[in-house]
Amino acid sequence: MIPLINLDRQFQQIKAEAMEAFSRVYDSGQYILGAEGKQFEEEVKAYLNTPYAIGVGNGTDALVLALDALGIGEGDEVITTPFTFFATAEAISRVGATPVFVDIESKTFNIDTTQINDVINEKTKAIMPVHLFGQPADMKAIMTIAKANNLYVIEDACQAFGATVNGKKAGTIGDIGCFSFFPTKNLGTMGDGGMIVTKHNHVSEKIRLLRHHGSTKKYYHEEIGYNSRLDEVQAALLRISLTHIDEWNSNRQSAAAFYNQEFMTLQGVTVPHIQSDSEHIYHLYCLDLENRDGISTGLSKAKIANGVYYPRPLHLQEVYKGLSYNVGDFPIAEKKSKSLLAIPMHPYLSKDEQVEIIRTISSVVSGSKP
Ligand SMILES: *Cc1c(COP(=O)(O)O)cnc(C)c1O
Repeated sequence: MIPLINLDRQFQQIKAEAMEAFSRVYDSGQYILGAEGKQFEEEVKAYLNTPYAIGVGNGTDALVLALDALGIGEGDEVITTPFTFFATAEAISRVGATPVFVDIESKTFNIDTTQINDVINEKTKAIMPVHLFGQPADMKAIMTIAKANNLYVIEDACQAFGATVNGKKAGTIGDIGCFSFFPTKNLGTMGDGGMIVTKHNHVSEKIRLLRHHGSTKKYYHEEIGYNSRLDEVQAALLRISLTHIDEWNSNRQSAAAFYNQEFMTLQGVTVPHIQSDSEHIYHLYCLDLENRDGISTGLSKAKIANGVYYPRPLHLQEVYKGLSYNVGDFPIAEKKSKSLLAIPMHPYLSKDEQVEIIRTISSVVSGSKP
């Protein structure tokens, strides 16, 4: 079986370093809000070149805390994409605000910025773009629209640690950027973890307060907060992974380049679009396919893992019936939910594995036996 991602190979690379770090935390007697978390925040700030970073419990909490810290809640609207992992919209709903969806671009699968202005009204408080699959959304257009309409921008960068836009790191362009360290993310840990980055001091202070029961002084509480911290074990492991992330992202890019070259000429197969001003880090490598289901079956038969991201756009989710969206409202998102297929992608995918994957897909496309 060739898996979609191979965490085992990745974690084996850093096992010796990780064991040392785990042992250090074990002996420290400090497991929540200690030195590792603090160091990791400093290292993320330096890596992303951003003034403030706050470790939190997971990527979903990062989004919730970001919205809460900006005072977004009941009666407010937040513009986002219907083509993302559910947590993006869930966070908006969780704080009591309403997600307002806008269709996606057919090439990048990111929010179509030409349609954002149409849904802005007096209730709109923020735009929440997602850098889907590791490919940055059009931040230049988004920042221009936000500025003109006095809106916040919260980047859901959960799939894009280390991706760049015009030389800046994804997540550091808007008011707030949110990251997830869920194991399968390109910077993943052995549990849950998240990080919020911001360029605003007051937002950073507020998030620090919120993540820890609204308290800065033990047993004195200034706000109704949350219990959402990045624990020391995860932080210690992430500090090691952070020193490898450039190599891992670049391995992903090399693997993607080989796929692109081989798939480029296949009939009915469209490879991920490469934008000139940004860097895709291929959290997922998704092909846009005319015969998605046939290729998926062929891959599964050949014991090659493959996955549909995402089979149902968010505006058509059961839970959002109350928002009164219908089939046909966002035709591109709906179309892509039927044509995209993720194939194996991770930093330690071998050339032999790629060749086998390419051969299998080519044979399904040409109708021959693999
Ligand atoms: C993974 C993910 C999240 C949520 O992160 P968790 O750490 O799993 O809570 C949010 N948004 C997107 C786009 C994601 O991919």
